[in-house]
Amino acid sequence: MQKTPILMKFGGTSVENAKAILNLISIVKSKIEQGFSPILVASAMGKITDRLLFCANLAKENQLEKAKEIVRDEIRILHFNTVGVLLKGAGNEEEIRRKLDLLLEELKDLLTGVSLYGELTPRFLDTFLSYGERLSTLIISEALNFHKVKANLCDSRKVLVTDSHFAKAVPDFPKTKIKLEEIVKPIYEADSVPVLQGFVGSDENGITTTLGRGGSDFSAAIFGSLLSVAQIEIWTDVSGVLTTDPRICSEAKTVESLSFNEASELAYFGAKVLHPSTIRPAIERKIPVYILNSKKPQAEGTKITKNVSKDSQEPKAIAFKEGLVNLQVVPFEMIQHAEFLALVTGVFAKNKVNVDAVTISESGVGIVFEKTSEYDRVKQELKLLGEIKVSENVGLVGIVGKNFWLKKDSLELILHNLMNFKIHVFSQGTLGIVLSFVVESKDVQEVVRNLHKLLFEKNEFVR
Ligand code: ASP
Ligand code: MG
Repeated sequence: MQKTPILMKFGGTSVENAKAILNLISIVKSKIEQGFSPILVASAMGKITDRLLFCANLAKENQLEKAKEIVRDEIRILHFNTVGVLLKGAGNEEEIRRKLDLLLEELKDLLTGVSLYGELTPRFLDTFLSYGERLSTLIISEALNFHKVKANLCDSRKVLVTDSHFAKAVPDFPKTKIKLEEIVKPIYEADSVPVLQGFVGSDENGITTTLGRGGSDFSAAIFGSLLSVAQIEIWTDVSGVLTTDPRICSEAKTVESLSFNEASELAYFGAKVLHPSTIRPAIERKIPVYILNSKKPQAEGTKITKNVSKDSQEPKAIAFKEGLVNLQVVPFEMIQHAEFLALVTGVFAKNKVNVDAVTISESGVGIVFEKTSEYDRVKQELKLLGEIKVSENVGLVGIVGKNFWLKKDSLELILHNLMNFKIHVFSQGTLGIVLSFVVESKDVQEVVRNLHKLLFEKNEFVR
């Protein structure tokens, strides 16, 4: 009987050393035992992409020897040691080391090229950085085979077809689908595990491209959705999305499920969720995406789907941003509201400053935004439009969860809880997904803990 295909993506920390890869192997094994047919996408071993980037820059700055030293003493040693543990007694240990060395020699030649030209182009960097994933997946697929999981290494450059926008290539879905069906599908249909590099692809001329830093999640979503897998699993080093930042609140726990829009709101607030736009292809095709912890494979993770059940109306997580400014502008003379709002927001658009919240009233417009290097310029330009009043040092706290505050007594409880804090702005997000408060910066963390206690630690809150 044909097994159910699923896509499993392992990030840098989930393949960072032999121990992590042994974990990966046991996770993959248990999936196979459960009747699934996994397709693997892996990142470079933890930090390797950063180190490669560092080497490339060294070579460009005329420090070729130092760059080669890092390849030899850090990158080579890490991969060789990993092979030493994973393939101990396999018999092909030396052969794999030779294969790794071939790749590492190419890396060093590329570095020589960079130091000669003294230039780093995005096109070059894509090729150069792809070695991180090519090294890691070579080891992973061999280790799987040695540990009795039949696996085949695939070359993502032959599968993921992109345009030639180096460093941020755009996938060609129809062409990639054809390649997946040609190359990857026969592998898992024959009960072997295809092992693909995340992040890496190639353009129509066969030149290596990448999807941009952190692009492996996107690779996973592209491959998973085009192969219509039953689910996509993003294996990382945290137990999914948490109810809030655990550094602020030790009681933070895993959020069971999120809608795509809820996950997007959290990411917008700067919560460390994977970038929701990268999993859009999967969500659009109604494929659930799980975020799971490879260090605690038994722990529950977070499931992200297009929609959550309509009537769930539950708070999901609390996110926050600190270091914001609340600025009010009152027009010098009578002017139509909409026109004034356009003038004010125009200043932000022109200076490319993100706006976090907007309020408008008879007397003027209030904008909450991040205090970036453009701050003084923005302020100067707004002074030409009206009288300004600024509260620096505010922060934004947002509770994400579709319409949970519409449930009986919910809003009263929340507001009652915040009675002792100064609230500058209080708003309900556009799609009914986030309830947010602009408070004093010094109060942000306490407000978060306070709300977390109310919403996630006590039973008092109607759920
Ligand atoms: N290795 C690449 C990076 O670190 C891609 C990824 O891990 O998603 O950016
Ligand atoms: Mg990574």
